[in-house]
Amino acid sequence: MPGRYTMQERLAGWGPEGQARLEGSTAVVLGLGGLGGTTAMLLARAGVGRLRLVDPDRVALDNLHRQILYGEADAAQAAPKAQAAARRLASANGQVRLEAVQAEFQESNGAELLQGTDVVLDCLDRPQPRFVLNELCLKLGLPWVHAGVVAAQGQLLVVRPGTTPCLRCWFPGGAEPSFTSAEHGVIGPAASVLASLQANEALKLLLGQDQALLAGMLVVRLWPPSFREVRFHRVGQEPCPACGYQAKPLRP
Ligand SMILES: [Zn+2]
Repeated sequence: MPGRYTMQERLAGWGPEGQARLEGSTAVVLGLGGLGGTTAMLLARAGVGRLRLVDPDRVALDNLHRQILYGEADAAQAAPKAQAAARRLASANGQVRLEAVQAEFQESNGAELLQGTDVVLDCLDRPQPRFVLNELCLKLGLPWVHAGVVAAQGQLLVVRPGTTPCLRCWFPGGAEPSFTSAEHGVIGPAASVLASLQANEALKLLLGQDQALLAGMLVVRLWPPSFREVRFHRVGQEPCPACGYQAKPLRP
């Protein structure tokens, strides 16, 4: 009789060995909104052994169009997202150890929140803490997957300290604060697409399938649809102040 994970174990490069590896792994999901909820659900269903779910907020009615972990009762009670998410994920896969943490990720608690993890999912909704996360992951040597979504578009990036450019390499001046979901909104399909791609990269990291990882930054637009991978080039500039990475000049 097929087991719970048989269908994914059939994927080349996964197998029972990969599954065992996942079950021995820990992932931290920072932010449990439209991105984090879907990412966490996919990782839980895939059988990642331990998930730490971090969000300071409570469920509200205007979350429900895109935040698939929550229902009307959660919004009516203004349930803390971390606890509501853990309840929902537990019903999807009771084998996963879930830690609900109602807290905001910041410099003062960052190291504690990331303790013991193998990968970090950046599903945060503001630029500034992402750069805190970038610095911390560089210090701890932790791989992480950045996803961001606004309106009907988003971006995805895998950062492996010491191997790939970091977030500061891509955005030396920090992120532009002008294009925000507070102003431009966000649609459910955009959050779900980016979250699925994000979970996909995290699973590759946990399975050690580095050769299959996204190499550049994936820019996704859904209205109208386009997927574009941008490769990192920063020719003739100073090394990154955060990670020291310097892209090799292109051959003429
Ligand atoms: Zn860098």
